[in-house]
Amino acid sequence: REQILSVSGLKVHFPVRSSGLAGGKQVARAVNGVSFEVFKGETLGLVGESGCGKTTLGRSIVRLVQPSKGGKIVFRGRDITGLGNREFRPLRTEMQMIFQDPFGSLNPRLTVGQTLGEVLKVHGITKGTQATAKKIDQLLDTVGLNRDYASRYPHEFSGGQRQRVGIARALAVNPSFIICDEPVSALDVSIQSQIINLLKDLQRELGLTYLFIAHDLSVVEYISDRVAVMYLGKIVEIADAGTLYANPKHPYTQALLSAIPMPELGHQRERIVLKGDLPGPLSIPEGCSFHPRCPFAMEECRKREPELLSLQDEPSHKVSCLLYQ
Ligand code: SF4
Repeated sequence: REQILSVSGLKVHFPVRSSGLAGGKQVARAVNGVSFEVFKGETLGLVGESGCGKTTLGRSIVRLVQPSKGGKIVFRGRDITGLGNREFRPLRTEMQMIFQDPFGSLNPRLTVGQTLGEVLKVHGITKGTQATAKKIDQLLDTVGLNRDYASRYPHEFSGGQRQRVGIARALAVNPSFIICDEPVSALDVSIQSQIINLLKDLQRELGLTYLFIAHDLSVVEYISDRVAVMYLGKIVEIADAGTLYANPKHPYTQALLSAIPMPELGHQRERIVLKGDLPGPLSIPEGCSFHPRCPFAMEECRKREPELLSLQDEPSHKVSCLLYQ
């Protein structure tokens, strides 16, 4: 399979001023050594609780956040880690991002047609008013919106329609890879499935590749070919979606999945309730960072940090847990 993206050892750390009387600086380790690949035409789901670093990871791939502590990002065979903004600019048409809140990223004073027209102009996609108007019509068609909507303003749209506009804007530059950051989390359940189905159709028609970030495991299962689970800035498990949902290996994945109904399993999993709260990125525990909450923690887990390694009999299923090492 052809790799479109490869991320290795990526770290994004932020200095944070501590609030204590003594002052001083602490470091938030938002992304703390992440490696994975995305293959052409697939959807890789990235799940985890809020604060696990998944959004920062997505943003660092499209350079909205700089990898601060090392690692490498290779896109279509090219190392893009050290590229300056000018060198990275042409790649922005190949890589797009869809956000949770399309309203926040749409200018309220521009009609949808003007917004799309701006994008087409800035990136030199169409030349001349007629060609641009035609392309705008085509984009609205592609995302299932009436062409008349081009003259409307963002506040005139429902949440689902706004997300369709967000998708149209991403598609305007003919990208091959789209990072979808919680694209349906703010929508009603019935609208969620419409948008997910639209994303699936577009993937088939346009040969798109997605990195799909979400905290909702059911949504991720529905759209993903493979799924990566993140905990405190690291990927703790990655596998084909079917395998991961039927046979999760990492205790954290097992706990997450035990909380959602799995009718296809024919029985409900036994609910695993985790101890304590999710620690923040300022205070990541030593050893296996999951050890204070893990029902299977051993003495060794406090000291030794597990690596993300393939299971012996399943090379494409990787787990970061000492139980398997
Ligand atoms: Fe639990 Fe230890 Fe595995 Fe970490 S390494 S998930 S603490 S068993």
